[in-house]
Amino acid sequence: MIIEKLKQIKEGKLSAEANIKSFLEKIKKDNPKINSVLHINENAIEQAKLVDKKIKQGKAGKLAGLGFIVKSNINVLGLICNCASKTLENYKASYNATVIDKLLKEDAIILGMANMDEFACGSSGESSAFGVCKNPAALDRIPGGSSSGSAASVAAAFCDFSLGSDTGGSIRNPASHCGVVGFKPSYGAVSRYGLIDLSMSLDQIGPLAISVEDCEIVFNIIKGKDERDSVSRDFDENKKDLKKIIIGIPKIGANKDILELINKKVEEVLKKQGWKKQNVELKYIDLGIQTYYPINYVEFFSGTRKFDGRKYGKKIEDSCGEEVLRRILGGGEICKAEHAGKYYRRALKAKEIIKKEFENAFKKCDIIVMPTVPRIPHRFNEKISLEDMYNYDTLTVLANIAEIPGISIPCGIIKEGKDEVPVSIQLLAKVGDDSNLLEIAKKFE
Ligand code: GLN
Repeated sequence: MIIEKLKQIKEGKLSAEANIKSFLEKIKKDNPKINSVLHINENAIEQAKLVDKKIKQGKAGKLAGLGFIVKSNINVLGLICNCASKTLENYKASYNATVIDKLLKEDAIILGMANMDEFACGSSGESSAFGVCKNPAALDRIPGGSSSGSAASVAAAFCDFSLGSDTGGSIRNPASHCGVVGFKPSYGAVSRYGLIDLSMSLDQIGPLAISVEDCEIVFNIIKGKDERDSVSRDFDENKKDLKKIIIGIPKIGANKDILELINKKVEEVLKKQGWKKQNVELKYIDLGIQTYYPINYVEFFSGTRKFDGRKYGKKIEDSCGEEVLRRILGGGEICKAEHAGKYYRRALKAKEIIKKEFENAFKKCDIIVMPTVPRIPHRFNEKISLEDMYNYDTLTVLANIAEIPGISIPCGIIKEGKDEVPVSIQLLAKVGDDSNLLEIAKKFE
């Protein structure tokens, strides 16, 4: 837990150097079997020594001495930021993303860059060009994706926290499969400056950690309006009275063991907190995946036109994997003039409808709960269809479409064969209600 760790560091019981060294040793020992880290920050120990000096002088920041791991699509000056793709294989970032500047300013220390699905396209961690990432909670199963390495690194105790990006579930989905907490803030709550886009109208950076409070601490540092990201903003939030929370319950299709665990969790929280529940109708959520993918394909196609082999790395079409190529070809096709108005613009209309639907639902309740992922993660040797792969995100894409915050919290284990697979509950709140959501989420842990 971050609070305790910071206290130890402050009281001189643990130095930044010792904290960072022990993480690096753990990574060295266990990463060959997990493969959640692609690159180590070779300067981490030197940086930790400097932080120790600042601590002694009483000049250190709020996260002094903590170690974190960064998804490889977030620019960190001088480190390889390759999006787990051959296209950008040796690309060293020439600047820091805003989130990185903010964390470094508070004296957190970067341990390394995380494995991920190539260009964040995926839900399983299998599409990395540098080998699959394993799930520390069940080694022969996928860790989820696309922030596979960020979630697996937290689960493997390689860091105090990590950063991921979430376009349709990529923070919450792997957090769920690996049994850690993952938080996707409201769209615009955290600057995207320095994030390599998957789909710019849906992408959001957020933290993964072992507790809600840890995610909250990181979120409070990285959030806020940034001049360099024109859609970023500060949200004015009215603090909710935590005694009077209404939990919205929609009808959801999912694996019945998962639904059972979710119901049990909800009943437990209702009883303990004296909160109320209320059924909510979300008629169009079945359109989530059909709405998400046309937007994703078109925006990804557009965003990748800069990877033409002239300025950065190799030409993307010549060097990427199957899923990335599918999106580029598909995105290029559906944004042709003859298809104008058919796919992308229709998807944008559906997006507005789903957004409205959530706005109305939040008039009746404070949060909406559902599983994070409707099924348990497959084994590496199981081949699944593209449709099944896309359907992993049925319940996570909704938050990105509606631009609302969402958090995934572990809520139990399902036994399958010899595996004990983590299952998580997802909580959603209205746009800008991020801090309230985090407060409520603590009661579900
Ligand atoms: N799995 C989804 C996709 O492949 C979501 C990815 C993400 O959130 N980055 O598009």
